Amino acid sequence: MTRTTPRRTALISGASIAGPALAYWLNRYGFAVTVVEKAGALRDGGYPIDVRGTALAVVRRMGILPRLRDAHIDLRRLTFLDGDGGEVASVDPHALTGGVAGQDVEVRRGDLTDALHTAVRDDVEFLFNDSIARLDQSGHGVDVTFHGGATRTFDMVFGADGLHSRTREFLFGPEERFHRYLGYCFAGFTMSNTFGLSHEAVLWNTPGRAAALYAVGDNDEVHAFLNFARPEQPFDAFRNPRAQRALVAEVFADAGWEVPGMLAAMNDADDLFFDAVSQIRLPRWSSGRVALVGDAAYAPSFLTGQGSSLALVGAYMLAASVADRDHEAGFAAYERDTRAFVTLNQDQVGEGDAALFPTTAQALEQRNDMLRGLGGAMPAAAGRPAHSALTLPATRPR
Ligand SMILES: Cc1cc2nc3c(=O)[nH]c(=O)nc-3n(C[C@H](O)[C@H](O)[C@H](O)COP(=O)(O)OP(=O)(O)OC[C@H]3O[C@@H](n4cnc5c(N)ncnc54)[C@H](O)[C@@H]3O)c2cc1C
Repeated sequence: MTRTTPRRTALISGASIAGPALAYWLNRYGFAVTVVEKAGALRDGGYPIDVRGTALAVVRRMGILPRLRDAHIDLRRLTFLDGDGGEVASVDPHALTGGVAGQDVEVRRGDLTDALHTAVRDDVEFLFNDSIARLDQSGHGVDVTFHGGATRTFDMVFGADGLHSRTREFLFGPEERFHRYLGYCFAGFTMSNTFGLSHEAVLWNTPGRAAALYAVGDNDEVHAFLNFARPEQPFDAFRNPRAQRALVAEVFADAGWEVPGMLAAMNDADDLFFDAVSQIRLPRWSSGRVALVGDAAYAPSFLTGQGSSLALVGAYMLAASVADRDHEAGFAAYERDTRAFVTLNQDQVGEGDAALFPTTAQALEQRNDMLRGLGGAMPAAAGRPAHSALTLPATRPR
């Protein structure tokens, strides 16, 4: 059949998880898609992430599930330590995350991004090293001015630019209004695996402080996390890497176990990632011809372990919603059909109540008693209903 109308055009800001997934589905629905990413290339590497429940159906429909299964990390053991480094319990990690062994996949973040990009890169225009400087919706489309100097007009624009989204700021103003701080800050970085860890994680806790080492394979690097409770957000530290290192060093100054070595490694790390643990809660996910997806719209925080899954499901639902509708009806359908799933997953954690990071001595003792009671013999997990609480509509690709 010959096409009688021109293809609708879409610009997506952000090429991580939500961005390439949305690009894939919009392209399948006949859009001409451009993705702009401020980094110079895909950002690879990174911490392990889970793809679970409904999100598994998304990657299966994209044809990348076999590749993700090949990249599966297969974490076999999670060992909890007390303040002196003594073992509290060693458990099957799936039982705690609510994951389902044999079904869920856990991969390095970079492996997921790469698989998504590979699935779409030949059909979609990618602009690296650039970003949106201005959005103007006063005409018949969205007039976009790029920082690189180009100006172009698109039928729709999508913000898939993460927790600190610029696109969201263009639409709705500063992040503080929509940011729900969960009472923790964390630093993540890679360091040498001098611990002999393999396919396992070790978590050290004292009240309000946690240090974790995560070995994704048998290789010579581990992912290190230092997480701590803090009632107020340390705004100064967000803008200043030196202040971040100083704050983390101060909080963990008297900590035992391997923490002194982790602090030394943090000082030398070139991939230090520091942030508040927080969610984004927005009353609306779109304005005019511009919509948000993934962390930009509804970051659930890593405490839920559902950020990537929400990004994948959200991208699928958004593309399906505009496939046969204009932006107004399409964006309304996206929210109507996706919001309950998102909220249910965001509600899996509240302020300061993360089971992995108890903030008081009493809460930590209770958590440890619970773990000891399990004696390592965890029952097979049934999975959390929240992960699968949405059934995807059928695809109707052009
Ligand atoms: C330590 C840690 C552990 C985590 N563990 C898990 C887990 O186990 N399971 C899970 O599901 N999730 C986990 N997450 C969360 C998960 O990483 C995010 O929820 C997920 O990456 C969201 O994807 P996204 O594409 O929406 O945003 P992001 O991955 O944040 O990507 C945003 C992209 O936009 C780009 N960008 C930013 N600003 C601009 C701009 N102005 N113009 C153009 N491009 C821009 C960025 O460079 C980036 O490529 C974890 C997160 C962290 C930090």
